[in-house]
Amino acid sequence: MTSSNPSVPPMAIRKKLMAGNWKMNKTSADAVPLVKEIIAGVGKDQRVEVVVCPPFTALESVARVLEGSPVKLGAQNMHPEPSGAYTGEVSAAMLRALFASYVILGHSERRTYFKESDAFINQKMLAALKSQLKPILCVGETLQEREAGSTLQVLQTQVEGCLQKVTKEQVTSVVIAYEPVWAIGTGKVATTEQAQVAHAFIRGLLAKLFGDAAAQRVRILYGGSMKPANAPDLLVQPDIDGGLIGGASLEARSFIELVKAAAAVK
Ligand code: PEP
Repeated sequence: MTSSNPSVPPMAIRKKLMAGNWKMNKTSADAVPLVKEIIAGVGKDQRVEVVVCPPFTALESVARVLEGSPVKLGAQNMHPEPSGAYTGEVSAAMLRALFASYVILGHSERRTYFKESDAFINQKMLAALKSQLKPILCVGETLQEREAGSTLQVLQTQVEGCLQKVTKEQVTSVVIAYEPVWAIGTGKVATTEQAQVAHAFIRGLLAKLFGDAAAQRVRILYGGSMKPANAPDLLVQPDIDGGLIGGASLEARSFIELVKAAAAVK
């Protein structure tokens, strides 16, 4: 399957986005030198949008370092309620107060370990959008689902479930990350063809749900063992608009190389 509107050059409408998901790594103090190195490596180059997503405890220290730089801040999760008796949770407004622009929602680790459902992720999605936080919605199939031939069905269920009640005006602020679960942190990367088929399918689905013009503006990232060696072939695919990067974002050098690989795509 190809892009739903191959006549429109994707670069003309979608700026590539490279986001680092630090997961449960880096203390507040450890985060500062890492983000300083990333800022220095990115420099003034704004061909690619760069986002770092530290753990909650490092958001404030990273936000201070990011002030005045083009690198943006994202969080890894949030609760849908604005406030209240939700011990251990953090709201969209709390993230906005720390100058976060993005929030990762529905990461497979949260779906697996914390049993997050599409319906719950949808509540977070609506709350994030209401607070002007841009969601990075993660979707992806397990190995078992891929082997059973149900990859596209799984993606459809997750995308439709998580985007309920989102309007076509709002959806252009949403970023979708296609992350095959079997490729996350495993060193196994989807082939460029597997990734492009999934991305084109998601864009086609968005076109059905929100219209082609909106679908053409939504960025769809690939995530799953993206490394400097495999990134160029993935990033050149017509429906791959960047990456959500775990392991390789914990080291400034590899993350910067990935950003440069995205910037090099014509
Ligand atoms: C992720 O956690 O979103 C991810 C893609 O991790 P990794 O790059 O380590 O596979």
